[in-house]
Amino acid sequence: MPTYQYRCLKCNKDFDYIQKMVDPPLAVCIHCNGKVKRIISAGAGIIFKGSGFYCTDYRSDSYKKQAERENKTSTSTAKESSKNSNKKTEKTIN
Ligand SMILES: [Zn+2]
Repeated sequence: MPTYQYRCLKCNKDFDYIQKMVDPPLAVCIHCNGKVKRIISAGAGIIFKGSGFYCTDYRSDSYKKQAERENKTSTSTAKESSKNSNKKTEKTIN
């Protein structure tokens, strides 16, 4: 699950909040119930804390199978299939 970073406009505290991607963004501070704004970091606004593996792990099963299958035929189609699996991954998350 992604960790979102928020800053409270009332008490000025920064805090992380773990929530599902489908959940609406946090509206109030967990400390004082004041208004918060989400801090967008690294352009994505999502921090995968302690797990740089998450993205690759997530699609590794289908990716490996596809790559295995298509490595036998040609390498250019393997590239194509990795693009497709990227698209599928994004769709699933959204
Ligand atoms: Zn606050």
